[in-house]
Amino acid sequence: MSMVVILLGPPGVGKGTQAVRLADSMGGEHVSTGDLLRAARRDGTELGKKSKELMDAGELVPDDLILDLVRDHLKGVAPEASILFDGFPRTTAQADGLDRVLEEAGRRVDKVVLFEAPDEELTKRLSGRRSCMECAAVFNVSFKDSEVDGICDRCGGPLIHRVDDEPETVMRRLEVYQSQTAPLVSHYENHDAKMARVSADQPADDVYRAFRTALGLDWA
Ligand code: AMP
Repeated sequence: MSMVVILLGPPGVGKGTQAVRLADSMGGEHVSTGDLLRAARRDGTELGKKSKELMDAGELVPDDLILDLVRDHLKGVAPEASILFDGFPRTTAQADGLDRVLEEAGRRVDKVVLFEAPDEELTKRLSGRRSCMECAAVFNVSFKDSEVDGICDRCGGPLIHRVDDEPETVMRRLEVYQSQTAPLVSHYENHDAKMARVSADQPADDVYRAFRTALGLDWA
């Protein structure tokens, strides 16, 4: 079954972890705009240069740049592939833009899953987070460290602590989430796509189980 899913929720809630796990299990396409932007920065593209300061400050990159990025990226995705959007859309303008892009491809958002956890938990997770520069897998020095220090278990790539995971920037990212992204919750409550809520304040395996249930998938 092919579907278009949005993983919605604040930074540090575990959207990336859950998306990677589901994509590994069902072969869907994990589309993280944060990862695409970091790749653009590494490649030194115009978009990467424009985004750097905003990202490092925890601010959002403008909607038009993000929508162009997503539209371009989807050109390389098979039309029948399941898509898991992670960290996108982040504003109602992006949500409307996504509907238009999908409609052009004869597709639509099938399901929105909102992951929720208290701010203290998010801050704790982000401060210990280590992210793979190659495959975007995430680890945590406090409760899910990699087998070898600094090396990704999944692909062998280097693990880093993101600049924007530093405490001051995390506070700003949480504010930005509240003011610009949280309005998407009521937006999607009034949208054709069905929205489900999953508590992310539990062990990752339990979150994953609840995530699959929310999507109507069997326990694989
Ligand atoms: P993430 O990896 O999702 O935490 O994103 C890291 C940073 O990239 C964010 O703090 C924003 O600066 C930028 N970013 C990622 N996705 C978006 C988006 N959909 N809209 C605007 N900015 C984004």
